[in-house]
Amino acid sequence: MEVEIKSVKKEDNVLTATLGLIRQSVELAELSADVYEHLQTPMRFIEVAVPVEMDDGKIKVFTGYRSQHNNVFGPYKGGIRYHHNVTTDSIKALSMWMTLKCSLVDVPFGGGKGAVVCDPYSLSQKEKEKLTRGYVRALGSFIGPETDIPAPDVATDAQVMAWIADEYSTIMREPSFGVVTGKPLAVGGCVGRKEATGRGCFFVTREAAKAFNIPFEHARIAIQGFGNVGSNAAILFAEAGSPIVAVSDISGGIYNSEGVDIYSLLQHVEETGFVKGFPGCEEITNDELLAIDCDVLIPAALENQITGTNADQVKAKIVIEGANGPTTPEADQILKSKNVLVVPDILANSGGVTVSYFEWVQNNYGFRWDLETVNRRLEEKMIDAFKMVYGFYCERCNGFDMRTGAYMYSIQRLAEAMHYRGWLRNGTHKN
Ligand code: NAD
Repeated sequence: MEVEIKSVKKEDNVLTATLGLIRQSVELAELSADVYEHLQTPMRFIEVAVPVEMDDGKIKVFTGYRSQHNNVFGPYKGGIRYHHNVTTDSIKALSMWMTLKCSLVDVPFGGGKGAVVCDPYSLSQKEKEKLTRGYVRALGSFIGPETDIPAPDVATDAQVMAWIADEYSTIMREPSFGVVTGKPLAVGGCVGRKEATGRGCFFVTREAAKAFNIPFEHARIAIQGFGNVGSNAAILFAEAGSPIVAVSDISGGIYNSEGVDIYSLLQHVEETGFVKGFPGCEEITNDELLAIDCDVLIPAALENQITGTNADQVKAKIVIEGANGPTTPEADQILKSKNVLVVPDILANSGGVTVSYFEWVQNNYGFRWDLETVNRRLEEKMIDAFKMVYGFYCERCNGFDMRTGAYMYSIQRLAEAMHYRGWLRNGTHKN
């Protein structure tokens, strides 16, 4: 199947945008310039070459990265992405967002992110396994349960995490499954982890709808990206009765004003690999999906989707950032001027790292929680985080958006920890 490939435009460089936001938030919160100095670059950035013998017998060398941004709260934590369109800047930005996210939802991790530059959709399962194991061997002791703990991200799943746990345990000569989260249950995974990011988006959407007086069960939803985050959020919206009017993935989008039957769509994707061609729906492009008439838009695919060029066409009243970095700063301004509430990625998709934390705790102590406990604790955490950030934004961010509020809150917590660890010479705030 032909798929639409989007490249990151130079003017939408996510690292430049993130640094601008961090700098602005440090200034607005009147924090010391030393705080920005610490946050403006990863503490360590690793690049590795990963040779793989492909199915046709030829050797191909892939490039892998791991960005370890900041560990003031604990081990670096963040997903591993397999994608053709990965840059060093995007991985650095993704690791910064993890630092901010962990701080915001108060889990004792720092920020990290990894990637291998490849076309994951054309790799065989065998090639994917060899690539994963080679990447782990190349990283060696730079990762570990107390050092840096990867998790799933775009095109990596529980099986990939199990290979990582196995390869790392072989290197360490002992079972060491806490090196990674998002594993299958059989090798120390946590019930509810696979669904956790989508579930977190669902809870946050419910809270945002309340704040905006939108009746949640009638809210019309559009979702870009039907992978882990998008599809699991879609199932929960379908269960709640909210009509999902549009869905897309890398193959394009589908639209039905009456609502798409999500369970049949899941089956169609299982059989064909993509949403394209799902019967009973109008075909639309990814750009058209972003401009669909709906109440809630959930970008759950990649960075830089809502931009200065298309933000004006967004009709949703609420944008829930299931993906990391889907909205550019220019688009943020346009959406703010249209009174669209953007619930930022570091809050909206933090359900994943929250349950990853639950998994890591269970691995460390050798016990297991049941699904009800995991989901209840996740729900409490997400509701508390939403209320705290939304309240802070309403009180402190006159003229700014909710992202700025989330950044300010998160960076203040980081500054306090840096201060106590002795990383700041003259206190947390400007003198
Ligand atoms: P995934 O690989 O499971 O799904 C990605 C989806 O996006 C797929 O449906 C794919 O077809 C679609 N897609 C890819 N390129 C696209 C394009 N150019 N246009 C439209 N759709 C495209 O990945 P995922 O784990 O669901 O991650 C999606 C986003 O959520 C990423 O930004 C990721 O960083 C973020 N995220 C994921 C988790 C998690 O737990 N998996 C946690 C937090 C944030």
